[in-house]
Amino acid sequence: MSGRPGWIQEAWRVALIIAIALAIGLALDQVEWCLLLALLAYTIRNVYNLHRLADWVVDTEATDAPIHFGLWGDIYSRIARVSRRQAQRERRLTTLLTEYKSSTSALPDAAVALDNEGRIRWFNESASRLLRLQTAKDIGQPLLNLLRAPDFVEFLKTSKPGASLQMPAPGDSTRQLEIRITAYGEDQRLLLAQDITERLQQERMRKDFVANVSHELRTPLTVISGFIENLQASPGTAEPRLRRPLELMEQQAARMRQIVEDLLLLARLESESAPSVFEVVVVGDMLSSIAEDCAGLREDVPAIGCEIETDCHLRGDEKQLRSAVMNLVVNAVNHTPADGSVTIRWKVSDGEGFLSVEDTGEGIAAEHLPRLTERFYRVDAGRSRERGGTGLGLAIVKHILSRHDASLEVDSKPGRGSTFTCVFKGARLVCEPPESTVTEGSTMKHSAQEKTASRRTYG
Ligand code: ADP
Repeated sequence: MSGRPGWIQEAWRVALIIAIALAIGLALDQVEWCLLLALLAYTIRNVYNLHRLADWVVDTEATDAPIHFGLWGDIYSRIARVSRRQAQRERRLTTLLTEYKSSTSALPDAAVALDNEGRIRWFNESASRLLRLQTAKDIGQPLLNLLRAPDFVEFLKTSKPGASLQMPAPGDSTRQLEIRITAYGEDQRLLLAQDITERLQQERMRKDFVANVSHELRTPLTVISGFIENLQASPGTAEPRLRRPLELMEQQAARMRQIVEDLLLLARLESESAPSVFEVVVVGDMLSSIAEDCAGLREDVPAIGCEIETDCHLRGDEKQLRSAVMNLVVNAVNHTPADGSVTIRWKVSDGEGFLSVEDTGEGIAAEHLPRLTERFYRVDAGRSRERGGTGLGLAIVKHILSRHDASLEVDSKPGRGSTFTCVFKGARLVCEPPESTVTEGSTMKHSAQEKTASRRTYG
């Protein structure tokens, strides 16, 4: 093709045809007819070229353009360029899609893409294995037609961001799946299912191990403590040389017993399933009795006050709740000087219940706050031991609260004191006078005379 643009070449061609037709017309004295014939021939040629173009565009095999010059040459070469680019893009997309498909197939977790009506758009190989989906047949089907477990139906309908569901794998109840759903694109969702059977087994083994070791240690420790007590009582050990070691042995044995009891309590909290029906706990009475119990903990106990700002009660297990609050109050008392104060507060705000224990004690530095509920985490291990702490108290509190769908919030500043707040959901509140107490867990009602020997024990 020459360097000139096609439309100029075409204009020249039209001018040349007209000039030739004019010349012949003038020579034959038939100018109109010659011009008419020339334009007719030009139109026929264009119609023929359009026809060839239409054929060429749909012929996917055709690579070479039939015309290389003039306006038609331009049109062919532009169309060829566009389709070459399109083919390259298609090849790139196909490669990407193949890579994407093979990488998602290699994923050990099941992935299922759902459209806005919950129909399956696509899924990977693990989804066929874990969720028993069948490739060609199940695409386009509503997922709920294929997985009908009531928990799963509820989860898919109400799926909240970050929520997960544990359920047995369809068709294989020995395996447990953890299901998560994330939103993407326009109203589309991606369902991810992970096989957590091994993880659950390991967790169970760890819990069983801790529970068994604690259980096995309980009896020898009781025997050792008994012997130490006997030795302390016997006249032969009255010498100062033996008194101090025996005192230390007794203290350490007591400490070990407390650790064992706390570990066993945690194991029980982890293994028992939360009862579905709870008793109505009269929070005001429970807090006053805890305040009364804690006032007699030591001689230099700070002032303990109770502020009950609501008549609402809580639906829960009274022994467990009592144990959790007791832990918080004992901690507050242990970390607050005698001239400070501890306030136990119960109030309802924005439909939620807030049970807080506030002290004016030493406070906790910000870096420790996220780790306080970890087992054996102590800000100052030495001082905690001196006060008989095991580092398990707040872990127990957290477990008890999670069994009551509640959470623990900690607000503290060094030198300014701490506030530990248990936040209970509205569904747990009973704001009418309690009717008869309904219990499925325990039936024990606390009385003020019942002073707990250990701050942790609830059973
Ligand atoms: P411990 O048996 O040591 O009290 P906890 O799990 O109850 O174990 O508490 C963990 C740590 O949190 C404690 O060792 C202490 O350092 C810190 N802590 C808990 N409550 C308070 C509080 N009211 N004021 C200051 N520090 C606290």
